[in-house]
Amino acid sequence: MADGLRLTCTTCGQANRVPASRLTDSPKCGSCGDPLITGKVAELDATSHDKATRGDDLPLLVDYWAPWCGPCRAMAPEFSRAAQALAPHARLAKLNTEDFPAISQRAGIRGIPALILYHRGKEIARLAGARPAAEIVAFVQSKIPVSAR
Ligand code: ZN
Repeated sequence: MADGLRLTCTTCGQANRVPASRLTDSPKCGSCGDPLITGKVAELDATSHDKATRGDDLPLLVDYWAPWCGPCRAMAPEFSRAAQALAPHARLAKLNTEDFPAISQRAGIRGIPALILYHRGKEIARLAGARPAAEIVAFVQSKIPVSAR
């Protein structure tokens, strides 16, 4: 096995290996050059969603949302704040369930917003409904020991 943490580039879907000691050095994708850890909420598509949820070594929290969902839009700034707080120890991303209904169906999403925490190819836990940033951060930390700012 190659050294380092496996991280999927949310821009191009390329799997990258990042040494744990370099997580704080703004690692970039070896394929497209985009930063792998931004502290911002990445927008996933079907490909990057499946690659990242099935293999990434860094905890990944996915917000399943849709543009028509009021509570989803209300939570967006809170989710962004949580992404900032948890970087670079966990990544937060969102998937538009209107654009990718097959994925939300496969994940068994019944209501949105729904948050699912993934780590090393496994679903760790899920949280339903809109939450403030502090609760989102606490949820991730209660499942996986990561530090936050
Ligand atoms: Zn890339």
